Amino acid sequence: MLKLLKDKSLSSTWQNFFEENFKSDIENIALEYPDKRSIFIDYWDIDRINPSLAEGVLNQPYKSIFNAEEALKNIDVASGEKLNLHFRIKNLPEINRLIIRNIRANHLGTLKAVDGLVKKRTEVRPKLQVAAFLCQKCGAIIKVEQDEDILKEPTECYADQGGCERISSFKLVTSLSSFIDSQKIEIQENPEGLRGGAQPERLSIYLEDDMVGEIAPGDRVIINGILHSMQRRRGTFKLTSFDKTMDAVSIENEQLAFEEVEVSEEDEKEILKVSRDPKVYQLMQQSMAPTIYGMDVEKDALVLQLFGGLSKRMPDGTYIRGDIHTLFVGDPGTAKSQMLNYLSKLAPRSIYASGKASSAAGLTAAAVRDEFGEGQWTLEAGALVLADMGIACIDEIDKMSDQDRSSLHQAMEQQEISVAKAGINATLKSRCAVLAAANPKLGRFDEFMPIHEQINMPPALLSRFDLIFSILDKPNRDRDTELATHILHTHKAGEVKENISKSLKSKFSSKDEEKLMEMVMPKFSPEFLRKYVAYAKRNIFPVMNDDALEMLKTYYVNFRNSSEETVPFTPRQLEAFVRLSEASARIRLSEEANVEDAKRAINIIDQYLRRVGIDKETGKFDIDIIATGISHSQHDRMRNIIDIIHRLCDESKEGNASRNDIIIEAETNGIAADKVREVLDRLKRNGQIYEPIHDKYKITEY
Ligand code: ADP
Ligand code: MG
Repeated sequence: MLKLLKDKSLSSTWQNFFEENFKSDIENIALEYPDKRSIFIDYWDIDRINPSLAEGVLNQPYKSIFNAEEALKNIDVASGEKLNLHFRIKNLPEINRLIIRNIRANHLGTLKAVDGLVKKRTEVRPKLQVAAFLCQKCGAIIKVEQDEDILKEPTECYADQGGCERISSFKLVTSLSSFIDSQKIEIQENPEGLRGGAQPERLSIYLEDDMVGEIAPGDRVIINGILHSMQRRRGTFKLTSFDKTMDAVSIENEQLAFEEVEVSEEDEKEILKVSRDPKVYQLMQQSMAPTIYGMDVEKDALVLQLFGGLSKRMPDGTYIRGDIHTLFVGDPGTAKSQMLNYLSKLAPRSIYASGKASSAAGLTAAAVRDEFGEGQWTLEAGALVLADMGIACIDEIDKMSDQDRSSLHQAMEQQEISVAKAGINATLKSRCAVLAAANPKLGRFDEFMPIHEQINMPPALLSRFDLIFSILDKPNRDRDTELATHILHTHKAGEVKENISKSLKSKFSSKDEEKLMEMVMPKFSPEFLRKYVAYAKRNIFPVMNDDALEMLKTYYVNFRNSSEETVPFTPRQLEAFVRLSEASARIRLSEEANVEDAKRAINIIDQYLRRVGIDKETGKFDIDIIATGISHSQHDRMRNIIDIIHRLCDESKEGNASRNDIIIEAETNGIAADKVREVLDRLKRNGQIYEPIHDKYKITEY
């Protein structure tokens, strides 16, 4: 096959091309050879100098690249070294860019650029490049270049390599063969390019030599490479259908999420104008899922989440995330999924996934052994890695796997995920904001039960969310009327639109449509909003002023000390305040977070605590309920009762405390009997006490 590619005149054209235009680049590479062994050339440079060479590169890439690499071998460099360089072309014309689902048979054998999101990668493994065979008849060593996946053996003992010319059997000698590093990756289509709910298609790509080990799952890449087919097999049978794969020629990393959004000068003018509008916050809120009625606070939270706070890297190496994590918990049918869906379409680089993910990687990442790796371990990215630099919208997060449950902490707080299993040892980035929704275990949300008991998520994980909103669906005549009006109105608007466009004898005018649609039209179009957010994230890095700082501090200290009993906040909440204030300043495109921003942050957290963090007995906020599921007053009561049990055990001959005595003793301390029973049950469930004899308790010794 290689012999067929050889073309003396093409090779000398390339040689001239390199010598006249890239001599100094090659000399530079020679200085670092063999650490550097690739020359990267922009397609448009070839096109400018020699259009017919450029055309050949696109249409006959194997031949072009083979001869270009041959030519590179013949170029003399100052060091006198013989270079064996890879010729890597980048920046292909736009029309040669394909999305995976559009790959067709006539693209095979041509050079194309395919963009996507890296989903999996195998370990780096050696692959035979030139295999050395020992002739079992005469002992000659016969070398065969390996350019396919299946091992190619000599058909006879070649005379031109000093062999006996007989048909013989051959034995592979690995110590005399040469190997090249190879790696297989899988990319999937970017979520932005997918039409409503379509599953992303995937493509396997082979990387060789100095390209291996460069990219990680979650990366956004453009792969320039040669599409080719690979015969499918069923057992040992070869089939007539083929799989499409790609041999990579070069890899280009895509930019950061919001840099991809282009903002023209005109856009900028409009953005600056909007930012000065005193109603900007309200307008933003009204641009979030306008077909959904109410949920104003939730929509405010989504706006803040879209803009996000500042992530910070401290001199001591600690990382503080800027992304705001939000959780919706609540009754079924309260438009939670709908909100997630809307945001995932609005924000660049966002991923919509379900907690009961079907892939092995789940929400985070995993090392798996599957067909793709052909027996080797593969590192596969889950939703939070794929949403790197975007927003991960996770529906039904309560249904996630145990493995996700344990790795989600790190993914949300440190924003990276480490996988160490088998030969794979990797750390993947998950710098995304998480917007999650959960349904209560028992179908309906119970205001009087701690959240963590209702949604099958450990308290430690819940405390990673900056905001948790409970969404209740309680009958309320006024609200129901408005909601019904809104939903029915939305449907009517949709009906009229369909009617006008499809019905032959429509009696509605476009005026009617416009009027009806007004209510459900977002104040800012999603395109404009994306540009606005991109502009703010790129240019605005607010710093809190002293007044704002003072306000948050006072609020925090006052709240923690508002009562001796309750500990309403943890330092984690304080960080949430900061993030929300920063995001709020960003919305105004302000470089300074002021008192107004601090107030907005306080207000929104207040709203959330009011709904989920209230101790139903004292009517006070208590973050302990969220963090541990037990309010501070409950906790005190438990301590008190444990003390009583201790004392009674010490006093009794058998060393245990009877249920009745505990209740009587506790009542003298002002704890009602039913509360005591509740606490005893809880302590027993937690394993803090046990019941050796019916109605007699003992403290568990650790
Ligand atoms: P959940 O995920 O909370 O169970 P969904 O997002 O699937 O609920 O919503 C169920 C349906 O009810 C959707 O069609 C949604 O549009 C509608 N719906 C629920 N609440 C509202 C609301 N406040 N405004 C408009 N539509 C709503
Ligand atoms: Mg749902």
